Amino acid sequence: MDIEEFRKAGYAAIDSICDYYANISQVPVKAKVQPGYLIDQLPKEAPEDGQRFDEIQKDFGKLILPGITHWQSPSFFAYFPANSTFECMIADLYSSSVSNPGFNWICSPACTELEQVVVEWAARMLGLSKDFWGSSGIGGGVIMGSASDSAFTAAIAAREKALRRLSVESGVKAGDNGQIEIPDKIRQEYGQKLVVYGSTQTHSLGAKAALMLGLPFRAIPVSIDDQYALRGEAVREAIEKDKKDGLVPFLVYATVGTTSTGAVDRIAEIGEVLKEYPTTFLHVDAAWAGVAYALPQYRESLRLQEVNEYADSFCTNFHKWGLTTFDCSIFCVKNRKDLTQALDVTPPFLRSKEADAGTVIDYRNWQPALGRRFRSIKLWFVLRSFGVNGFQKHLERGIEHCQRLTEIVSQSSKFEIITPPSLALLVFRLNPSSSGGGKVDDDKLNLLNQKLHQRLDTRYDIFLTQTVLHSIERNVFCIRLAMGGVNTSFEDVQRAWEIIEEEGERVLSEGDG
Ligand code: PLP
Repeated sequence: MDIEEFRKAGYAAIDSICDYYANISQVPVKAKVQPGYLIDQLPKEAPEDGQRFDEIQKDFGKLILPGITHWQSPSFFAYFPANSTFECMIADLYSSSVSNPGFNWICSPACTELEQVVVEWAARMLGLSKDFWGSSGIGGGVIMGSASDSAFTAAIAAREKALRRLSVESGVKAGDNGQIEIPDKIRQEYGQKLVVYGSTQTHSLGAKAALMLGLPFRAIPVSIDDQYALRGEAVREAIEKDKKDGLVPFLVYATVGTTSTGAVDRIAEIGEVLKEYPTTFLHVDAAWAGVAYALPQYRESLRLQEVNEYADSFCTNFHKWGLTTFDCSIFCVKNRKDLTQALDVTPPFLRSKEADAGTVIDYRNWQPALGRRFRSIKLWFVLRSFGVNGFQKHLERGIEHCQRLTEIVSQSSKFEIITPPSLALLVFRLNPSSSGGGKVDDDKLNLLNQKLHQRLDTRYDIFLTQTVLHSIERNVFCIRLAMGGVNTSFEDVQRAWEIIEEEGERVLSEGDG
């Protein structure tokens, strides 16, 4: 393809994207295809000879779009919103146009410096304390591909920090460069004794990070009375049990806005407990809810002050509710050395005079991978185009939709709200006895709601996901309705609710629960 052909194909692509968005509310949200639909239509091998690009481009509409689940549809209420905006689509185009793996400052100074600037813009907008800002010279932030990457990176940093501390306790002195080298014998003695903690509500990222490090993950039970939040005393109990067995606590994942219900763990309680265990590190995962710190009125309920005081690292995904096309996960640390001392491996071919002089950041030392995408341009375009005010208005819209829906659901005689609405997330279940009447036991209700979810799952005009809330008291199967989609109006939410009520009636009329 030459420049003029690219110009033509590029205009055609933008035109078709505009048509897609103009009609998105008419398209079924879920793909009406069966497994293997695409594999069966594509040749087994790449073509011998190059093909005409206009033919290739047509196949996006013909073959790919039918197999797309439309996350940008106004009727997408599953998981969490993964907002995409036109600003980001253009940013991605620019980013591809100067494609480079940007691992060192010298690989593209603009990529590194724009990332430093926009991550700090984000941190300031969210009210994160100066300790997390890059301009502090001590802390700082980086854009990762996902909250799972951030959590895994935090785990590596935490492990190395714990092992350094244990090295010092066993008499190891800092070298000429001021760094503690962890002796093999310390790794052998303690490396496999380290333990990660979270709750039964922690996203699977916690167990996965532990698994990748070959370490155990303790999913601490939570209580309905605490609205599924992890408490400090429960953390202490779990840690003490492990310490009695000679194990070493080194990392706690606390969540602000759990996936299932939006629960907010008791950060201060947990932080106070962790003060008694100096090998520990506190990572706060606010993948979905963290962007809501942009609204000052929600900072207290989301425990921002506690995060600022106690967390060693923090993550939120702008690629969920934050208007930024996937991927853009902001990961901030209070001490950048926690990352660089764990991840800086510099062979001669990666050295540069600027890095040697200590005047620049080489982001490869803040993450497991070497190469990295130019993600900051997306967030830069979003924050400039929307401004903080526009960003806040978008969040407020989702929250308002949730509040209005909550009013409707609370008046229903067939449904009950399971936990208080969290920002733009409502969790509910079908319960014919919710307005009084004879009580139905939990097993029956779980079965009833599984049936409801199965029914909803057969529909293509709406997409919702289920969850099971595990707690000390009981397990509850329920349905989540996640609002905050950038293309979703309240009429779309109302229509979704009508469908849910309709399907609920059908389940009840089938009888027997
Ligand atoms: N943490 C929480 C609380 C989430 O709700 C989710 C996804 O829904 C994640 C982490 C996973 O995010 P990612 O896909 O960026 O790893």
